[in-house]
Amino acid sequence: MTGKIVVKIGGSNLKELKSIESIMEVVRLYEKPPVIVVSAFFGVTNLLIEILDSALTDQEKVKASVENIEKKKYKTLDYYIKDYEALANAKIGVKKLIKELEKYLYGINYIGEIPDFLYDKILTYGERLSAYTLNAVFNANGIKTMEVLPEQFGLRTTGELGNASIDFDACNTEAHKFFKEDAVCIVPGFYGVSEDGKVTLLGRGGTDYSAASVARIIKSEALDIWKDVNGFMSSDPKFVDKPVRIHHLSYSEAAELAYFGAKILHPRTVEPLHDVNIPIRLFNIEADEKVLEPLTLIDGDLSETDDIIKSVTSSDEFALLKLNGPGVGIKPGILAKVTSKLNDEGININSVITSQIAINFLLAVNDLKDSTAYIKSLDLPSVQELIPIDEISVIAVVGQGILEKPGIGSRIFNAVAENNINVKMSTMGGSNVVCYLIVEKAHKQTAISAIHKEFFSKKN
Ligand code: ASP
Ligand code: MG
Repeated sequence: MTGKIVVKIGGSNLKELKSIESIMEVVRLYEKPPVIVVSAFFGVTNLLIEILDSALTDQEKVKASVENIEKKKYKTLDYYIKDYEALANAKIGVKKLIKELEKYLYGINYIGEIPDFLYDKILTYGERLSAYTLNAVFNANGIKTMEVLPEQFGLRTTGELGNASIDFDACNTEAHKFFKEDAVCIVPGFYGVSEDGKVTLLGRGGTDYSAASVARIIKSEALDIWKDVNGFMSSDPKFVDKPVRIHHLSYSEAAELAYFGAKILHPRTVEPLHDVNIPIRLFNIEADEKVLEPLTLIDGDLSETDDIIKSVTSSDEFALLKLNGPGVGIKPGILAKVTSKLNDEGININSVITSQIAINFLLAVNDLKDSTAYIKSLDLPSVQELIPIDEISVIAVVGQGILEKPGIGSRIFNAVAENNINVKMSTMGGSNVVCYLIVEKAHKQTAISAIHKEFFSKKN
């Protein structure tokens, strides 16, 4: 145990010039200097993607865009660093990173293509610049800090470019030694390094996952995630009246909510922490008075509430692919052929529901078209029809013990039926934590609001 707490600071906490003031306030709350895992400043990753696209054809644009990023960083440094020498040194550091970035982009312009490994490398510059800037600003404002890079302390990934996982068995077991006790250690999130030394991204929004992984590797006491909202809610305030805050979630509840669309947490955040029992604590950086009292605590406690349901969330990012044909559900081999084909093509299947006459795959909506083509190419004689269905929403109703307490399922389905909404598909029993329903996108809001009312109206 290092005694250090890992704090994740996201892009939404780095929107304005004044944002770093709030971050410094947060850092000063901690008794011992924390480890900060930081995202790129708001919008910078998207900007880098745009620059990469234009780099292929437009050298001038590379120059202008990179200068623009540099100017913004200088503005931040000018605002926070009053000492002339410290400011000049900080700017030299930014310039060095910007020059590296620029060289890679010119290289792309010269060769006329974007090698995959370079795409990953270039996108990390958002986080690199962010960590560098925080480090310089903190130091100039009396907070002792140091930067600790994933490549230094051995945050090893499985190596898939763009979307790697952390390979915990290969991570440096002595990583904690890189994190000094008496300094705030700042780590750029979003990437790790593969066995052959390549910088690999952890997927979009991956800094939550980086932070959770660092917490695991250095055996942190907790992972503290500072957001700009009041923790997990019983539903999205866009869809329901008076959502209530959820004070506690089990790891599985949080994982299901994140998986099915709750934007507050990246779906992979829980993964590294669950089996080692490191709690995740959510705070709001925009609270007037910042205190270390978590708004939502996520840990291994499996206690149930009286009404079981803790939150109703939804995602529009899924689609259904239906394979119809007499007996498809019981003929051996069909499912195996389809799943191994999709697997070979790198497509993830989120769920499968079968019956005698149909097999239904729940997939990412972006994979629907390709998946349909791949399955068609298998030319399976027993499959008479292949029906891709988009424009759906998956609604997830989450609560520990959902299968154990009688009547919860009927309350969910009655609430939806009373509003004349047709449930296209549902599963209950996949785990003791979630029931999900698939409805037409147009019915999403009514369905969510009806289910939420059933379980929460009495509490308001
Ligand atoms: N900056 C990266 C992204 O926008 C990682 C993150 O913010 O978590 O995807
Ligand atoms: Mg994020």
